[in-house]
Amino acid sequence: MNSTGVPRRIDHLGRIVVPVELRRMLGISPGDELEVAVKGDSVTLTKVRQGCVFCGTEDDLRSFRERLICRECTTGVSEVGPSFSAGSP
Ligand SMILES: [Zn+2]
Repeated sequence: MNSTGVPRRIDHLGRIVVPVELRRMLGISPGDELEVAVKGDSVTLTKVRQGCVFCGTEDDLRSFRERLICRECTTGVSEVGPSFSAGSP
């Protein structure tokens, strides 16, 4: 991707505002996580993809114990559950 060349001033707490055009282009919403990294003399921001802890899909997710799990893996896990409750070692 080319630089848009939009200058942004950093505030006294080290914060900057990511231009709304870039947020829309990249699908960045309030609450999303961005990974901050240094490449050479540049600082890069990369959207952290939130996916199912088992298969990685980003569709049809729900939260369980602060982790994300998709509907299909939820079904798979619930099928494993009965073997624990049956008293197996
Ligand atoms: Zn899954």
